[in-house]
Amino acid sequence: MTEQENKFQKLKIVLIGQPGSGKGTQVDLIREKLGLVLVPSPGDLYRDPEFRKTELGKIVAPIVDRGEFAPDEITNRIMKEKIIDLTDNFKKGFISEGYPRTLGQAEFVDKEIGFDFLINLEVPEEEIILRLSGRRICPKCKKNYHLITLPPKQDEICDICQVSLVQREDDKPEAIRKRMYVYHQTAELTIEYYRKQNKVIDINGDQSVEKVFEDIKQALEKYL
Ligand SMILES: [Zn+2]
Repeated sequence: MTEQENKFQKLKIVLIGQPGSGKGTQVDLIREKLGLVLVPSPGDLYRDPEFRKTELGKIVAPIVDRGEFAPDEITNRIMKEKIIDLTDNFKKGFISEGYPRTLGQAEFVDKEIGFDFLINLEVPEEEIILRLSGRRICPKCKKNYHLITLPPKQDEICDICQVSLVQREDDKPEAIRKRMYVYHQTAELTIEYYRKQNKVIDINGDQSVEKVFEDIKQALEKYL
């Protein structure tokens, strides 16, 4: 890593975006290219078999398995511990995806953890629906496809297994609208909370992966 890139290493960043906004890809780029520690989202952490064996994991597992969100008090406690652990007690910078998501979490992070910027990845709703509704998965080998960006060689058939691809329930238009509604209900309050503190960087996510990352990097550079 060059010295020029090293200057990002102490940054504490939160990235927020709707399902289908491309935030996972950007988080990976930020982690790799800017040298930041990745903080897993609470959802990813709660699915981790190792975590589920811990004391707190045993409390959270049945809640999330019912499709519900864990209470903020528990999520806050778990995420604070996780961030301290991953950053060697805040010595390293981090990129967090999906936390804080609610106002209750945002207020806790503000008091107990702190961060420099909230990157708000914005993508128009029609584009989100187009992206998510084109997703397909092979029921046998679980390979992911996308009808527009990553199509199989034969229409709706897995290249490897030759079986018909399926659409996850989550990616059907009705479910997408429901997820968007849930996202807006919680995330907007968090974004507004941090906007008052001038910590929000709005990024246009409706561009190529490379351009979105470039915009993020340039916006951060302004503050370094
Ligand atoms: Zn397959």
